[in-house]
Amino acid sequence: MNIMFDEQQAMMMALNISGNHVMCFNLKENRVYDLHGKAMFGNNVGIEVCYTYIHPDDRERFRTFVERLKDGTDKVGECHYRWNYNYSGKGEPDWHDMYGRAMAEYEDGKPVNIIATLTDETEVKRKEREVEELSKRYRSIFENSIIGMSFYSPEGWLLDANRIMRQICHFDSDTSDEFFSKMNLFDVMPFNEVLDRDHPDDYWACSLSIVPEREMRVYLEISVHPIYDENGKLMYISVTANDVTEERNMYLNVMENDARMKKINEAIKNYEAELRYMLQASKMQSWRISLERDTLEFYNGLNTVVRSFNLKQMQKIFVDQEHEFVKALSNPSEALKKPLVYVGQMYPVVTQSSTEKQWVQINCIPEYDAHGTLLGAFGVWRNINDLMRKQDQLRNETKRARESGQMKTLFLANMTHEIRTPINAIVGFSEVLSSLTAEDEKKEIIQIIKNNCDMLLRLMNDILTASSLESGQMDIKPVDVDFAKAFNELFESLKPRVQNPSVEFIKDNPYATLPIKVDVERVSQVITNFVTNAVKYTNQGHIKLGYRIEARTMNGKQHEGLYAYCEDTGAGISAEAQPKIFERFFKVNDFVQGTGLGLSICKAFTDACHGDIGVISEGKEKGSVFWMWIPL
Ligand code: ADP
Repeated sequence: MNIMFDEQQAMMMALNISGNHVMCFNLKENRVYDLHGKAMFGNNVGIEVCYTYIHPDDRERFRTFVERLKDGTDKVGECHYRWNYNYSGKGEPDWHDMYGRAMAEYEDGKPVNIIATLTDETEVKRKEREVEELSKRYRSIFENSIIGMSFYSPEGWLLDANRIMRQICHFDSDTSDEFFSKMNLFDVMPFNEVLDRDHPDDYWACSLSIVPEREMRVYLEISVHPIYDENGKLMYISVTANDVTEERNMYLNVMENDARMKKINEAIKNYEAELRYMLQASKMQSWRISLERDTLEFYNGLNTVVRSFNLKQMQKIFVDQEHEFVKALSNPSEALKKPLVYVGQMYPVVTQSSTEKQWVQINCIPEYDAHGTLLGAFGVWRNINDLMRKQDQLRNETKRARESGQMKTLFLANMTHEIRTPINAIVGFSEVLSSLTAEDEKKEIIQIIKNNCDMLLRLMNDILTASSLESGQMDIKPVDVDFAKAFNELFESLKPRVQNPSVEFIKDNPYATLPIKVDVERVSQVITNFVTNAVKYTNQGHIKLGYRIEARTMNGKQHEGLYAYCEDTGAGISAEAQPKIFERFFKVNDFVQGTGLGLSICKAFTDACHGDIGVISEGKEKGSVFWMWIPL
């Protein structure tokens, strides 16, 4: 009996701990009462009343569960249902999830009672629902994530992959893929190299992923994240992948565009530099007139403005204010309607590199907008100073060439005369010579023949020197010489040429001795030429021959030099003839004997020595002084 009591007590305790109620359905009386715990609101409730506390959706099921025990179909049964614990009848029902297990008690083979144990599962169910809700939410996040996600078992087998991952990896169906399911994470590149099978770490990479079996070729940002439980046991491995092919292509495009832009910019810069160089080299500048802004702008290159004027000032930059083009500029919108070309002089207002007026050529093209309204004009202006100067030079050269041509013709005509005269004299006097007997007469004739031979020889020399000058530079051969002595000898050798008794031949030798280095042969040639001319053109008075050492300024420096002169009291030279006297073939009087070559040869010599040559004459019949100076 004691044992029985103990057993009963132990049972009660067990029922209490597990929170179970025990009820009894008395089938004879159709009533329900608590056997253990407090489940019912009264201790003797009719079964039908009991049904009203069951959730309408579960009521039929519950009734069937009871009926099947009642009629003996089931000996034991179980049922999940919702029970309203709000016994007050007011307000909202208080549903609890219940789990009941029941068993019929028989008397004479007929069920008389149903003994049921009840468990309140409300809390368990709520938790279940919460978990279900949560996992649904995670599932949705997982499935709808914008990056690819997949989970692998600790052994490396694919557990799940979300939609994006399935797209990235080209799964063979919407949900699964045989290839990826059979592929172990630890066996594929690059994870086989970087993941530790026993204890993988986090891994991140960005690379080109190629899976030929699934025609997959994408740039992926991949991250592997192993998930461990609190005991450090690997639960699963999450793999996320982001397809960055688009971004990469975009980035490459941007880079490519950047490079292209850089190239274009460089090309523009080069082009601009070339253009600027070209414009500078050709002394050109571009300009633009804007009627709206009332400006005339001059550019350096393509867009650097160097000078700017308003349109009123524009007219004033031209020298010839009466020119049609310049006058028209007072009404720019009329003047600029058509293309224009202007050649004229401009004040140096643009470059301001000099103060002189400059010749310019201006080209002007009108600029219209899409509606045909005149916006202004643009074009280039070009400094043509050099061109104009060259044109002038060309004009002068042409004139000179023409004159020189005429001179050459005259020269040729003269030559016949010049050569024939001495030859006639030589031939004539040679014939006379044989018939003469008197020694004095013979001497005189021989002297005449000799003089004419000299003349012929000099003529030939002049012609030869002149033609050699035509083809190249003159050779200068300075030698050490006592010039005072050489001068005395030269003077003596020239003496016989001054035969006119009315002309005195005077020597001016200031030095007893003068050792210098000079091309004494050429200097003698020049002096001889001076004297020959002086003899030719002087009928009375004197011819004075002299020299001295004289310093002159050369390239801003004082330089010692040899100065030689020949002064005569002869025909003199007019002011207008003086500048031409040293030109080739020039003769003041074409009818006087001579070739017009001598002085030009003298000038070629002094030029070659960087010296100078000149004539001083106060005019016709006033005598003249021919001089030369060469640096030593
Ligand atoms: P040419 O052989 O004709 O004398 P030059 O070149 O020596 O050639 O002289 C050129 C011209 O200069 C001469 O034709 C002459 O008209 C003038 N001339 C040269 N020397 C004198 C002088 N001393 N007095 C006057 N005229 C001179």
